Amino acid sequence: MHEFTCGHQECGSQFTSSNKDVLMSQVVDHLKEAHAVPKATQTLLAYLEATCVTTVPDR
Ligand SMILES: [Zn+2]
Repeated sequence: MHEFTCGHQECGSQFTSSNKDVLMSQVVDHLKEAHAVPKATQTLLAYLEATCVTTVPDR
């Protein structure tokens, strides 16, 4: 499982998915809805993937 924890202060939303591509598409939706980022760039997503996504054991 891959887990995303939003690094934005006062947000801290978490998503998990077994598929990292699915997870990153949820991140894109989250940025749009929660952080007014209409179009996340590959640079931003790569940064978020490196800093906010961790691998967790399957439950
Ligand atoms: Zn957030």
